[in-house]
Amino acid sequence: MAMNLTEAQINAIVARVVSEFKSPAAPTTSGKPWDSTQYKGRKLIGVYETMEEAIEVANAGYRAVRSMSVADREKIITAIRRYTREEAHILAEMGVAETKMGRVDHKYAKHLLVADKTPGTEDIVEEARTGDNGLTLTEMAPFGVVGAITPSTNPSETVICNSIGMIAAGNGVVFNPHPGAIATSNYAVDLVNRAVHSAGGPEVLVASVVKPTLDTANVMYKHPSIKLLVCTGGPGVVKAVLSSGKKAIGAGAGNPPVIVDDTADIDKAAKDIIDGCTFDNNLPCIAEKEVFVFDNVADRLIAGMLKNGCIKLTKAQADELAKIVLVEKTDKNGKVKKIVNRDCVGRDCRVILEKIGIKVGPEIRCAIAEVPFEHDFVQEELMMPILGIVRVKNINEAIDLAVKAEHGNRHTAHMHSKNIDNLTAFARAVETTIFVKNAPSYAGIGFGGEGHTTFTIAGPTGEGITSARSFTRKRRCVMVDSFRII
Ligand code: NAD
Repeated sequence: MAMNLTEAQINAIVARVVSEFKSPAAPTTSGKPWDSTQYKGRKLIGVYETMEEAIEVANAGYRAVRSMSVADREKIITAIRRYTREEAHILAEMGVAETKMGRVDHKYAKHLLVADKTPGTEDIVEEARTGDNGLTLTEMAPFGVVGAITPSTNPSETVICNSIGMIAAGNGVVFNPHPGAIATSNYAVDLVNRAVHSAGGPEVLVASVVKPTLDTANVMYKHPSIKLLVCTGGPGVVKAVLSSGKKAIGAGAGNPPVIVDDTADIDKAAKDIIDGCTFDNNLPCIAEKEVFVFDNVADRLIAGMLKNGCIKLTKAQADELAKIVLVEKTDKNGKVKKIVNRDCVGRDCRVILEKIGIKVGPEIRCAIAEVPFEHDFVQEELMMPILGIVRVKNINEAIDLAVKAEHGNRHTAHMHSKNIDNLTAFARAVETTIFVKNAPSYAGIGFGGEGHTTFTIAGPTGEGITSARSFTRKRRCVMVDSFRII
């Protein structure tokens, strides 16, 4: 099942997709620009008016799957992988056209990654212990119906990745997708159901709603049939889910810092950082968000970045842009907070720069700027191809500032270095779920790096790189004084 895409393969995919998809996805035929209930006149399977109805149907699907063997469940997973590969271009195109965020070629590659590297039933491992007192079995059982909240940044990727893991674990799933990506998310729900049914499963095993809201999310939190909540999103929603009183897995925000020291291969570091930072226009929560570079190699790193499709902004331009990409919002307690401007999140660099009157061609994929540590380009999780760069004197200063910029999210951090002591010191200090050394950020989710993929990285609750086993509950069966053969 596992597949590592080489850089040449990724480039081939990108070239193919770019040539195939020059125009945005055609809207549905329903007359609405984006329809969460149908695709080109075909009713989507598994999408319901109310959350209660969706939960009821997913529960029936779960009960049907309970009577299936693990081998049959794996056939379902195989079908989901196949459908995802076959329809990856539709999902990628829809995601960009509906959310106006990200890049079709990169989203296409992300769907292939989900199809190929999300673990299936092999991830569920039973344990048997024998001793003087007999045999004890520990098995990973399903929870039942999982309630999942999914983001706008990787909408169908998360729906499919969650579905593979949760179904492999034997669960049914109800999604409350991000309202800004509802058509794409519900298309993914429909795809999963079509795949499940084609492989002998129930007609509906994963369900969603026509119009997800905070109210539908609340119904999900409180419903007695929902035994596990899994939330992939920003701090607000993760907090809401963790306050629900139910078992919850929270995959929250990050602000991944990168350290580059003076032992690093600087040309490679420059390319790797920009490749990771610009992947899907910086939407992945693991993507490089700010850089701390040793002063004695900073000029070389910046020169390398400029050779790799970057433009360098002056401090004045960076300040002007910061006022546009972040907007102030007063919360319900009257506190003024900066939040990202949704018109800039995940947009092409060219489009963002136009907002301050800078015109560049599509070859410019990232705007870099040397800024002080306090700058918004360092402190805020922008999720757009803008990279703040801070010069540092030494490793102690680099680690100190990078740990502060990560804000205790314990999500992801990156480092380019050949000094084992420096690498180890930063990894220890930052305590992130993912730590990538000498590679683009996406190596951390199995894209050119070893290990499985996920689009739900659960730092706050500790499951880490989630997979099927994260969505199980352990059950023990004890037989005393029997079943030993020695
Ligand atoms: P978001 O936080 O705006 O929305 C996530 C989901 O939560 C949406 O479905 C939204 O409608 C819903 N929501 C928001 N507040 C809610 C509440 N109080 N109760 C119920 N539902 C609520 O996320 P987004 O902008 O789509 O995604 C970006 C954020 O998600 C970033 O912070 C990013 O780092 C994070 N993210 C984390 C991971 C991870 O694996 N850790 C993966 C992807 C995205």
